Amino acid sequence: MIALKLLVDNRITGLPVTDKDRKLVGVVSDYNLLALDSILGKRPSSNSLFPEAGSTWKAFKEIQHLLTKIQGKTVGDLMTPLPLVLQTFLPYSIEISLKLLGFPLDPRILLDTKYQRLPVVDESGNLVGLITRGNVVRAALQVKCAAEENT
Ligand code: AMP
Repeated sequence: MIALKLLVDNRITGLPVTDKDRKLVGVVSDYNLLALDSILGKRPSSNSLFPEAGSTWKAFKEIQHLLTKIQGKTVGDLMTPLPLVLQTFLPYSIEISLKLLGFPLDPRILLDTKYQRLPVVDESGNLVGLITRGNVVRAALQVKCAAEENT
């Protein structure tokens, strides 16, 4: 519950999880904290443009119920262990320079996955940063605008 409050208070949707030595052990997102995969899997798919009347309220009640289920659980119980990571020492090809962010990397790695964020670790597996889909989009836009200004 504390982790969920941290997400809400900071207007973020997920966090890397480390052990006491700052070694990355997992990631946790609002998905995990609300066990949303368990209800999203159950919901019937609809082709309708508009949701059924009352379905938003029903989903809200479901989420409230899920909140009671995570009482007493720790981040370690709910996180996704062994997440996909970026490693600072790997030579990624650079199409769009993200040096602004401190890490030269190939942004496709993030766009190719469904994840909103990838933790960045050093050779020892210690967490050194986090790169989000928003970081990539923002940097791509900055590079595009700079290129347009120079033409
Ligand atoms: P999200 O990125 O918030 O859409 O997360 C959706 C699901 O993917 C959750 O179960 C997360 O724990 C999991 N997840 C998020 N990021 C990663 C990652 N880098 N590696 C593995 N699983 C992840």
